[in-house]
Amino acid sequence: MDLNYPAEAEAFRVEIRAWLEEHLPDGWFDEGFVLEGEAKAQFQKEWTTTLFEGGWICATWPKEYGGKGLSTMEAVVLNEEFAKAGAPMRADFFGDTLVGPTILQWGTEEQKQDFLPKILSGQIAWCQGFSEPDAGSDLAGLKTKAVLDGDEWVINGQKIWTTQGFSADYIFILCRTDPDASKHKGISYLLCPMKQPGIEVRPIEQIDGSAEFCEVFLTDARCPKDNVLGGVNNGWNVAMATLGFERGTSATTGYRRFEKELDVIVEKARQNGAIDDPVIRQRLAKAYSEIQIMRVNGLRSLTAVVQKKKDPGVAALGLTNKMYWSEYHQRVMELAMDILGMDGQVLSGTLGAEETVPGYGARHTSERYPASPLQSAFFFSRSETIWGGTAQIQRNIVGERFLGLPKEPKVEEKTATKV
Ligand SMILES: Cc1cc2nc3c(=O)[nH]c(=O)nc-3n(C[C@H](O)[C@H](O)[C@H](O)COP(=O)(O)OP(=O)(O)OC[C@H]3O[C@@H](n4cnc5c(N)ncnc54)[C@H](O)[C@@H]3O)c2cc1C
Repeated sequence: MDLNYPAEAEAFRVEIRAWLEEHLPDGWFDEGFVLEGEAKAQFQKEWTTTLFEGGWICATWPKEYGGKGLSTMEAVVLNEEFAKAGAPMRADFFGDTLVGPTILQWGTEEQKQDFLPKILSGQIAWCQGFSEPDAGSDLAGLKTKAVLDGDEWVINGQKIWTTQGFSADYIFILCRTDPDASKHKGISYLLCPMKQPGIEVRPIEQIDGSAEFCEVFLTDARCPKDNVLGGVNNGWNVAMATLGFERGTSATTGYRRFEKELDVIVEKARQNGAIDDPVIRQRLAKAYSEIQIMRVNGLRSLTAVVQKKKDPGVAALGLTNKMYWSEYHQRVMELAMDILGMDGQVLSGTLGAEETVPGYGARHTSERYPASPLQSAFFFSRSETIWGGTAQIQRNIVGERFLGLPKEPKVEEKTATKV
């Protein structure tokens, strides 16, 4: 592994750093700088526009769709410089990182021209309509139906755990369009408008009192016929592309959020004396080592991409990545709560305030449940081994697709064994 970056990448690094210095608020790089009050609100309001004008939102997308066509190496340098500066890079998770790249891969020219500029400019917000009450891990068991009626699909069914469903303008939704085809074959991936009488959204309250995800009920909901992505009855393949984007992460910067978070946890341990406990010290050292493993694995993945090498070890890293960081994060958040001790049991956030959760950015504390940033991160870490495919399912994928282990028995066979 060559840890040096090519000269062009270093030149690009200088360019990004200069742009950041010019556009971030005065004093941003000074020791102890904190943006507060009116200045913070103003910055948050304007930053997305500034980024958009700089062309840094989805900068790897081709130029004809509003991106900058950055190479992998340039994208890595861009992410690294933003992460180093602590500068927020807009990632409208569903638009920028899930459906946008899926449209780029599977969309028709018309779909690309229509949707991509609106995603880049933040004109439309998205949500993901995959899971149903009886179809989570077994996603292909989904029952929501879409039937063609003239120029429109008519959709009936229910989705669940739909994050940001209450605010989204569009849902990328998996529907059964051929009930007679085998489970994985009769599914289509539709880009459906949310704001219409046929769609009812009911928020679900979470453990910390917030309600980020929802149930979505579709009763004769309408979607234009041409909004099928990747062809009718080909939705399973398109969905696999989206899930691949959801499980991936920025190779050489993913570890940084955990590094910053660990600094906060170590500081808490210093403040309350927990740092003197040898077991706590050992657990902190283990967490630090695991973050370094993430860093080095990121560099291994990058090296393989840049050198266009097929390395089976690196392929395995891609498959185990989400499992590794999500399980790490649950362990370290439990450690954080042990360090806080009894204080961790008291809700110590500011009611209704917007607080910065290390690694998550700004997060509003719930009106009724004022968790501190660390408490919020602890709660949210419980969900990280679930969304985007559970850790158990990831293990099945590694076993079956990578290690070549025998496939799981089908449900009927499992039932037969139980009986
Ligand atoms: C914070 C959060 C946000 C989410 N946002 C969205 C969203 O925006 N859109 C969306 O569509 N979905 C969303 N989801 C849903 C998520 O994708 C599902 O929760 C996930 O796929 C698991 O499905 P399930 O909840 O039905 O659990 P189940 O599939 O019922 O699984 C229950 C348990 O059984 C285990 N299990 C199931 N099958 C197997 C197997 N074959 N082998 C071994 N173990 C197995 C699972 O690992 C799990 O532990 C979100 C979930 C969370 C937590």
